[in-house]
Amino acid sequence: MSVYKTVKRESLIEFLRSHSKYSFTIKEIVAQMSSGADIKNLPSESTVYRLMREMEREGTVHRYIDPENREYVYCLADTDDIPVNMRCKVCGNVYTVDSDTGRRIKSEIVSCGASVPEDSIELVVKCKNCR
Ligand SMILES: [Zn+2]
Repeated sequence: MSVYKTVKRESLIEFLRSHSKYSFTIKEIVAQMSSGADIKNLPSESTVYRLMREMEREGTVHRYIDPENREYVYCLADTDDIPVNMRCKVCGNVYTVDSDTGRRIKSEIVSCGASVPEDSIELVVKCKNCR
């Protein structure tokens, strides 16, 4: 049961990631996903609704009201600008992680079921000089 749920969740995140410039209502997500031949494990509208609320709570997606039709729209939370810093626990120096590595770290955080904080991520490490 839980594996089944994860597959649907993954395909939903995958869909939002491949349309990351756009926001969708639940109905649009279901319609777009069912027209895409490449997506297996098509979730039902109620499943999409439940999963989106779940992902909104954990910060994976953003929900807001579309000013034109007053409907809720969802998009993948943009975490690209959130910096990932490494702070050395010995000397206290702070190093910023490059954006590719940062993106990998953030996606690992999300896949562990946690969410990326809004301001920054700080990893406590032992730096090159103090190793
Ligand atoms: Zn150090």
